[in-house]
Amino acid sequence: MSAMALEYDALNLSQGFPDFDVSRELISMVENAMAAGHNQYAPMPGIPLLQERIKGALAETYGWHGSAQEEITITAGATGALFVCITALVHKGDEVIVLEPAYDSYIPVIQLNGGITIPVSLNPFDYSIPWDFLESKITGNTRLIIINSPHNPTGSIVSASDMVRLEKLAIEHDLFVLSDEVYDRIIFDGKRHESVLRYPELAKRSMAVFSFGKTFHVTGWKTGYVVAPAYITTEIRKVHQFVNFSVNSPMQNGIAAYLENKENYNHLHEFYQKKRDKFLEMISGSRFEPISCSGTYFQMLSYAEISDENEMDMAKRLTKEFNITSIPVSPFYSKNENHKTLRFCFAKKDETLEKAGEILCKI
Ligand code: PMP
Repeated sequence: MSAMALEYDALNLSQGFPDFDVSRELISMVENAMAAGHNQYAPMPGIPLLQERIKGALAETYGWHGSAQEEITITAGATGALFVCITALVHKGDEVIVLEPAYDSYIPVIQLNGGITIPVSLNPFDYSIPWDFLESKITGNTRLIIINSPHNPTGSIVSASDMVRLEKLAIEHDLFVLSDEVYDRIIFDGKRHESVLRYPELAKRSMAVFSFGKTFHVTGWKTGYVVAPAYITTEIRKVHQFVNFSVNSPMQNGIAAYLENKENYNHLHEFYQKKRDKFLEMISGSRFEPISCSGTYFQMLSYAEISDENEMDMAKRLTKEFNITSIPVSPFYSKNENHKTLRFCFAKKDETLEKAGEILCKI
């Protein structure tokens, strides 16, 4: 859709990346790291200062008190983390439960490793987890459940009771959990992010994946990390060592320096809540119906009042005829479904959101 936005010179609210500036201080810290000579290979698991600073932030935010050196691995973005986690755990014939709509990095990696995806659809349109149905899909071959909260593309979040149920299921059926938490700091309306790291028994069998790309508006830096108990981390690193070996050291050093000041990440939810509210205000006079968004920088809109077209056709038509680009949600499902919803990214300057509102109100 981004390629199409370029072709039609359309306002691009499709791909998830910010169009505003990155902190000058963070950029200087990376520049300083290079000038100070941090230009050679970092240690395979990550630089110790960054691991320590992440541990500090996780302890404060989620009460997690694991080992920085044995349980935190710096990866090439969350994408790198997801790849090494799935590859470490999923082998031929293993079944993996994936909640749909699902971010597009999970299923291809399961397939590459010979695993079998068991899709379970979230309940439209609150996108809650159908726990009884999910439990009915667990077999003797189920190895892993993948969850994602705050959730891309729907903006839904898991609750504390979801986590209690997940913990119970994982223990009862001896399952691993891969928890994609890249939007952990983008959560709204005073709600709490339910990280697997808050639940000690669940954390014993979970991998939690995070991304600095989202937290610091630097998606192009592709720097993330995975937190997992030492016995899982050992396996994850066996893969990481031969995929990336290590992640670029100027970014790691610069981010480590920036993490020292909590103010640099503790207000992200306020920043994005204002963006969400601005976008909602701008489209309030339109025929698009917003679907409740509690986190991420994505807002789903229903166009059921406007058209019966399928999502792909609608997204293409909006680009061609109205010069605004969004993402159809149907490709996030393994079976083609049409819920008449489109995903709009609101990680944009206010003037971009105002222009988007003007366009959407005319449709
Ligand atoms: N998981 C989810 C849910 C995402 O939305 C994204 C980025 N779009 C990623 C993982 C990948 O993150 P990164 O850019 O750090 O690889």
